[in-house]
Amino acid sequence: MALRPSANSETSTPSATTEVCAILAIDPADLLYRACSICERSLPDDPSSLCKHCDRNSFNPGPSGSKRLFRLLMSIATDKKVFTVICFDRVARIMFGTSADEFFDFSKLHPFAAVAAARMLEGELFRMTLSKPRSGNAQHLRVTSLVPMRSGYQPVIEGLRELYRVRAA
Ligand SMILES: [Zn+2]
Repeated sequence: MALRPSANSETSTPSATTEVCAILAIDPADLLYRACSICERSLPDDPSSLCKHCDRNSFNPGPSGSKRLFRLLMSIATDKKVFTVICFDRVARIMFGTSADEFFDFSKLHPFAAVAAARMLEGELFRMTLSKPRSGNAQHLRVTSLVPMRSGYQPVIEGLRELYRVRAA
C-alpha cells in the first residue's frame, strides 16, 4: 500500500498528542469495511457492488475488485478522560497482526472471532498518537500510530489462533 510521506508527517498536525491509553471497548460488529482495491473508497457490503470510479467497464471485472480494510471505533481512557477514537487500517494492522482480508476469512470459519478479538483488546495499554480529524465533519480523534505497552503483547490474530486451536482439540 502506498503511503505518501506527506500524509503521515507529524509536523503537519500540530494538534497531535501522544498518550498512554487503555482500550475500554471496541465494537465487534464494526471492525472492517469493504473498499475498492484500487482507490480504497468504501463500498456497500453487497459483494456484487463495484467501485463506480474505477469500474468503467462492467464486462471486465478484473482490474477493479474489492478488499477489506480495518476501521475500528474504540472507547479509550487516559489518566484524565474517556473518549472515542477511530483507528484506520494501517494502525489496526499493528494490533491485529494481519490484514483485514485475512481476519475476515478467519471470521468466516470462526464466527465469534470478532467478539473474541474485541475482548482480547479490552484493557490493553498502548502508547497512542492521536490527531484531530483532517475533515471538519469527522467527529472522532484518529489514532495515527500506536505501540503496545506490554512487552509480551501478542497481536490479536496470534491469540485467536491459540484460542481456536484449543477449542478444536
Ligand atoms: Zn475505486
